[in-house]
Amino acid sequence: LVLGRTPKTEKEGAGYTTILIDPRAPGVTMTELPMRYREGVKQYSLELDNVRVPAEDLVGVEGQGLLVMWPFTHIERVLTAGLCLGTASYAISRAVERAKARVIAGTSPIGAHQAVGHPLAGLHARLEAVRLFLYRTAARFDTRTDGSALAGQANMAKLLTSDLAFDAADHAVQVLGADAWDERQGWLDVYLDARLSKSGPVSNEFALNYIAEHVLGIPAHR
Ligand SMILES: Cc1cc2nc3c(=O)[nH]c(=O)nc-3n(C[C@H](O)[C@H](O)[C@H](O)COP(=O)(O)OP(=O)(O)OC[C@H]3O[C@@H](n4cnc5c(N)ncnc54)[C@H](O)[C@@H]3O)c2cc1C
Repeated sequence: LVLGRTPKTEKEGAGYTTILIDPRAPGVTMTELPMRYREGVKQYSLELDNVRVPAEDLVGVEGQGLLVMWPFTHIERVLTAGLCLGTASYAISRAVERAKARVIAGTSPIGAHQAVGHPLAGLHARLEAVRLFLYRTAARFDTRTDGSALAGQANMAKLLTSDLAFDAADHAVQVLGADAWDERQGWLDVYLDARLSKSGPVSNEFALNYIAEHVLGIPAHR
């Protein structure tokens, strides 16, 4: 599904057109990008050289391709927020487990030191608050047909959960010590997944741009 730039018209969403392209069509070159992450799908660069597309493969209306894409993106942000919430929850529980079990000197585990325990308590408090916000947003999506009215909330949920997932995974690296870097633990994959979510499927800067312009009404820089 390709979102391509086309000549602008006066209509809303103009300047983009969404079309289905057969990846085996003449003129299409797909090059797999070497990336380390666990999202489950491969990433490619796509080159199109005079590719001919049948008229029936136009999706939506020519020049209004963004209107086709927005419903996907709102849902994708809620889905990503759900993934981030799971990552954050896993990171916190793994770090808490370690903070309780690891004893270096004396009888107290490392979690008894506030430098280790307080960040975990703070992360847990954020997790519980953000969980409620995400569940409310998801429930509202379930009961509405027009998700665009909830786009601000979808962006906020994605922003808050991805920041939380990264902060939780980052602190877990600290609590796990050198074990975090042992490839057999698989922790670096979790850490990188959490980091990726700040950049995609929408970067947090663009989520903030949306909230600033469409929720708060602040003029956009154009
Ligand atoms: C593994 C992976 C999976 C992905 N999956 C998806 C997906 O499922 N769906 C999807 O739509 N996208 C996906 N993306 C794309 C991702 O959304 C973009 O990579 C990201 O938005 C940055 O865009 P860019 O790579 O073109 O970099 P650039 O556009 O060059 O941006 C670079 C940096 O500058 C910032 N920036 C650029 N313009 C502005 C601005 N106006 N205001 C503030 N900051 C700005 C960006 O936020 C970013 O941090 C994925 C990316 C990766 C690496």
